[in-house]
Amino acid sequence: NVPVVAVVGRPNVGKSTLVNRILGRRQAVVQDQPGVTRDRIAYDAEWVGQRFSIVDTGGWDPDATGMAKAIAAQAEIAMQTADVVVLVLDANVGVQESDSAAARILQRSKKPVIVVANKVDGDRQEAEAAALWSLGLGEPVAISALHGRGSGDLLDRILDSF
Ligand code: GDP
Ligand code: MG
Repeated sequence: NVPVVAVVGRPNVGKSTLVNRILGRRQAVVQDQPGVTRDRIAYDAEWVGQRFSIVDTGGWDPDATGMAKAIAAQAEIAMQTADVVVLVLDANVGVQESDSAAARILQRSKKPVIVVANKVDGDRQEAEAAALWSLGLGEPVAISALHGRGSGDLLDRILDSF
């Protein structure tokens, strides 16, 4: 049984792009429209010889249920079913109400939670990434899922938490 890593966060923050980056191939569906990922797809992944399962989430309809409710449900399921939860935010957009709601739920988790500041494509956005300390879930990891910046550091953090 390999460890399970769940990737959660609002639509369009780059969860599927991150999953593809970790897989080293294009498999999770990335699209500019939010909500294209079917609910919870698990992929086999590996980093420095350690195998794990990575779960891309999405697929719920935020318009039907309300974003905060949808993301709360996603965080609850992740907490119950995963060994590590990766909460992804868009560093350029900053903390939204639904991000804070997810963070509050994940604060109750006994499992490790890693905050990811995505879309840090350059040094300019490092300050925005540091602002995510305010979520109260520890040091944010600044990455660019699109370009690969910081993804090795994130994978090291994930493996350290197993
Ligand atoms: P999801 O809804 O959270 O799964 O987000 P996606 O992975 O589908 O990405 C949404 C959009 O954000 C796509 O247009 C991606 O190309 C873009 N995106 C993802 N990661 C990055 C990043 O690191 N930098 C930039 N600039 N864009 C990104
Ligand atoms: Mg997606």
